[in-house]
Amino acid sequence: MSSEKGMLIVLSGPSGVGKGTVRKAMLKDATNKFKYSVSMTTRPMRPGEQDGVDYFFRTKAQFEEQIRQGGMLEYAQYVDHYYGTPLKYVQDNLNNGWDVFLEIEVNGALQVRKKMPDGVFIFLTPPDLASLRHRITGRGSEDQSTIEKRMEQARQEIKMMSNYDYAVVNDQVPQAVKRIEKIVQSEHLRVSRV
Ligand code: 5GP
Repeated sequence: MSSEKGMLIVLSGPSGVGKGTVRKAMLKDATNKFKYSVSMTTRPMRPGEQDGVDYFFRTKAQFEEQIRQGGMLEYAQYVDHYYGTPLKYVQDNLNNGWDVFLEIEVNGALQVRKKMPDGVFIFLTPPDLASLRHRITGRGSEDQSTIEKRMEQARQEIKMMSNYDYAVVNDQVPQAVKRIEKIVQSEHLRVSRV
């Protein structure tokens, strides 16, 4: 007997910690079967990003309209911009038995936890703050004041780690991926899910 609904996997962690890299590495492995929920944002597109792949890039007015229509599972303002998870994609896929993977910041994750307490909440953390700064700076897409805002946000986010079920240190991507895969496999075997 197995439950027909998929499992919600929520990955948070400070900007620059490597959530996207870890998620993409997981998706490359065909044995990891989950759907990635593409978020909506009002922040400008970075070089190399694609609308509908990395985010749905929308105006503030469009984003607020989506909120008004009840179309967001969660949303948050992060360093001057809105970010949120469109509800329908998540609901449809969970109902069809797919695991759904969200990559979101902590305020959004706390909203999801209230609405979907069966989810698995994982916090990806940097080995230390110096390495996080190094990664954010290395990305080269943010000016100094944005980098400082993101570092301050990171300090606040790390304090919220106790709200998660699991903490995974991202020292090496392949190791972090393996740890998350183990968590997902174990969670599928919970008596309450089978
Ligand atoms: P970035 O601008 O670096 O792509 O994302 C900034 C932060 O917003 C990251 O921590 C990222 O995980 C988070 N984020 C991305 N999508 C969502 C979302 O749909 N909801 C929330 N709450 N945060 C998101």
